[in-house]
Amino acid sequence: MAKSLCKWRRGEVEAHLATLTEITTPPRVACSKCARVASEKGYVCRPISLVSDEENKTKKASDLAAKKAKKAKKDKQKAAKKDKKGKTDKKVRKKAK
Ligand SMILES: [Zn+2]
Repeated sequence: MAKSLCKWRRGEVEAHLATLTEITTPPRVACSKCARVASEKGYVCRPISLVSDEENKTKKASDLAAKKAKKAKKDKQKAAKKDKKGKTDKKVRKKAK
């Protein structure tokens, strides 16, 4: 990984503009000390996240909902299987009588 943006000197910024573009796109982290932005927290000396926690939570929540839906579907299938089995058992018992 390249050294942190905070340690770049003026000449380096001009010499490595392409790298600078890579490092700062997309801007997800800011340096709370010198206000530089970067895509990853390793590039600044005191990183704070620019992406709001709420955004992360929303993503996690939707993931969780998807997981829950999947599990519910599985449970339903399981329940259906159980029902079938129960009916079969009854039939068997009836025949036995
Ligand atoms: Zn900094």
